[in-house]
Amino acid sequence: MSDILEVVKNRDPHQPEFHQAVTEVVESVMPVLEQNPEYRKHNVLERIVEPERVIMFRVPWVDDGGEVQVNRAFRVQMNSAIGPYKGGCRFHPSVNLSILKFLAFEQVFKNALTTLPMGGGKAGSDFDPKGKSDNEVMRFCQSFMAELFRHIGPNTDVPAGDVGVGAREIGYLFGMYKKLTNEFTGVLTGKSLNWGGSLVRPEATGYGAVYFLEEMLKTRHETVEGKTIAISGYGNAGTYVIEKVNELGGKVVTIGDEYGYVHDPDGIKGEKLQYMADLWTIYRRPAKDYADRYKCEWVPGKRPWEVPCDVAMPTALENELQLSDAETLVTNGCKAVVEVANMPCTLEAAHYFKENGILFAPAKAANAGGVATSGLEMSQNSMRLSWGREEVDARLKGIMQNIHATCLSAAENYGMPGNYVAGANIAGFIKVVDAMIDQGV
Ligand code: GLU
Repeated sequence: MSDILEVVKNRDPHQPEFHQAVTEVVESVMPVLEQNPEYRKHNVLERIVEPERVIMFRVPWVDDGGEVQVNRAFRVQMNSAIGPYKGGCRFHPSVNLSILKFLAFEQVFKNALTTLPMGGGKAGSDFDPKGKSDNEVMRFCQSFMAELFRHIGPNTDVPAGDVGVGAREIGYLFGMYKKLTNEFTGVLTGKSLNWGGSLVRPEATGYGAVYFLEEMLKTRHETVEGKTIAISGYGNAGTYVIEKVNELGGKVVTIGDEYGYVHDPDGIKGEKLQYMADLWTIYRRPAKDYADRYKCEWVPGKRPWEVPCDVAMPTALENELQLSDAETLVTNGCKAVVEVANMPCTLEAAHYFKENGILFAPAKAANAGGVATSGLEMSQNSMRLSWGREEVDARLKGIMQNIHATCLSAAENYGMPGNYVAGANIAGFIKVVDAMIDQGV
């Protein structure tokens, strides 16, 4: 374990998020490596932590004042052993190579768990769409695609959305790709419905995470009904977590952002949920507006994890939930934690949950519904047809149930029953490294 971490840290000493993601996977797969000398012989660990390719590029664009702005962008093509590179694009000021390598690395295992033929990748830029006009976002997306287009394609690499990249950005990116290549293909997922998108793709990450939660609760003979749930980010994933929780008779009582959090003990539902969704997609306004409008508590400068809840579902960014938050949640009676964002819990927080018998779902299992439905969008694009809502939703639910069962059986096989983190890492790892070995060095 220390060997490979040393290699990774020596190569890239300033990539803490990537080191964290590698540490979590390596901790889990040690028993697999011990029992399979073939894996050691093929040096699979050192191969899997090194991206197949990283593209770094300049994105110049002209703002509304006529000034030229410059951002930096990357596409990390991490692993293509089981399919074309697949994974989102993140536009956020925090984006750097460490964050994109961690996200691409996670994506490799996540995509393997979906059972669909998708390798792993991630793109992003330090461009911040917040506070930019539509025209500025369009010009940025066009410039971004003017370089990226030569590295992607429906059978090569299929990007999608992530933080800061939603339907609007995917539209501008797709439009530019089409202009440059003169081809209408499924090169991006998360497209709008009337030009090649899939039903249920917008809902898929949130719904999928709740389907996973349902499966976990079943192992303790419980359901979502009557549960109080705390979430953080109120973007795409958060919105559809709330919608599905409401449908199943639970209630979500918090949302937050970088300025603080809202506590609505009656639950975010009905007109309030619609307003919350509009805050993010249309008005692009902070969470406090919700508290002001519906006269509920606004707690500035704090995270929502101090609110007593049965289930915590972090939906914002990496490392948003730390050890002290985990201690508070457990003290307040939280029974389950579902990572909806990518790696939102620190390693210490995740260990604490497991040591205290909390049901803990890692992101690469729990939020795989988004990319799984992207995989279904790719299938529909290849066949040039579209499935109905019920069909896509049933497939999504089946995939989440299957991921849950796979995690449990992989963890059980390696002597760690009930450990979803180990199960997800082991199952994803075995699938990908077996394919790498089959395909030679
Ligand atoms: N960004 C999402 C994720 O983290 C979805 C990626 C995709 O649909 O390709 O899995």
